[in-house]
Amino acid sequence: MNGFSKEVFSGACHEAGHAIAACHLGLVIREASFTGAEVRGGASCGYVDSTPGGVFDAYVAVAGCVAQLRAVGQKESFFIFFQAQADYNPLRELFAPYLDKAHFEAYRRKLEDDVAGFLYQRGVWEYVSRFAKELLLGSPLPCGDCMRLTDEVPRAKLVEIQQIMLSPTFHNHMGRRVGHAKRLELERMLREAVEAVRPAFGKAPSFDGFERALMEEGYSEDEAEKLRLELSSFWPQPDLPG
Ligand SMILES: [Zn+2]
Repeated sequence: MNGFSKEVFSGACHEAGHAIAACHLGLVIREASFTGAEVRGGASCGYVDSTPGGVFDAYVAVAGCVAQLRAVGQKESFFIFFQAQADYNPLRELFAPYLDKAHFEAYRRKLEDDVAGFLYQRGVWEYVSRFAKELLLGSPLPCGDCMRLTDEVPRAKLVEIQQIMLSPTFHNHMGRRVGHAKRLELERMLREAVEAVRPAFGKAPSFDGFERALMEEGYSEDEAEKLRLELSSFWPQPDLPG
C-alpha cells in the first residue's frame, strides 16, 4: 500500500470510514487527520471533525471500526473495538437516556451491520480507500480537501437513514452463531431498543457557527448557505417510519 503496512492503512481507513459516513449523511467535514503512520499500532491516531448530526452521529461513530475491519479483512476484532473507545464512549452517552447496556449492545451491532452494508459496497469502498490514502500522504486534511474527496459519495435520504436507524429488522450478521433462543432474545432486545431511541430523532443538532467555519475555509457565503440548507434539510420534522 504505497509502502505503508496493512495495519497503518487500516488505521487511515478507520478515519476515512468516519468521513465517508458523515458525508453520506450530508454532514460537512471540517478537518480530518491521521498520524498513525508515525506511531506503532496505527489506530487511534486521528480524528474526523464533522458538523454535529444529532443522533446521526451514531452512524458516523461506528463507521470507523466498520471500515477498519474491512481493511484488515475481519468480521470482528476485539482489539479494534477496544482501541476505538473514543468513538464508543460518546455513543454510549448519546444513547444513555434511552437504552440500558444490553439494549445498547443490540442496537450498536445492528447499526454496525447497516453501516457495513453501505461502506462495503464496491463503489463506496473506493472513496474510503482514496480518502485513507490522502490522509497518509498528508495530515491534517483541511475542509476543502475533505469536501473534494467526498463530493461524489452518494447522499442518504432522510427517510432511508431513519429506516436504517429506526427499523428493528435484524440482519443475519451476528458473528459467531448464537443459537435460536439467544437470537430471538437479541431480536426482542433490538425491537425494544429501536422503540426506545425513537424520541432521539426529534432533537435537531445546533448549526451555530457552521457557515462561518465554512467561510473561513474559503467557501463563499452562497456556498456556505447552500451547505447549511442541505444539512439542515435532514431535520425538518422527520416523518418517522412507523
Ligand atoms: Zn474513530
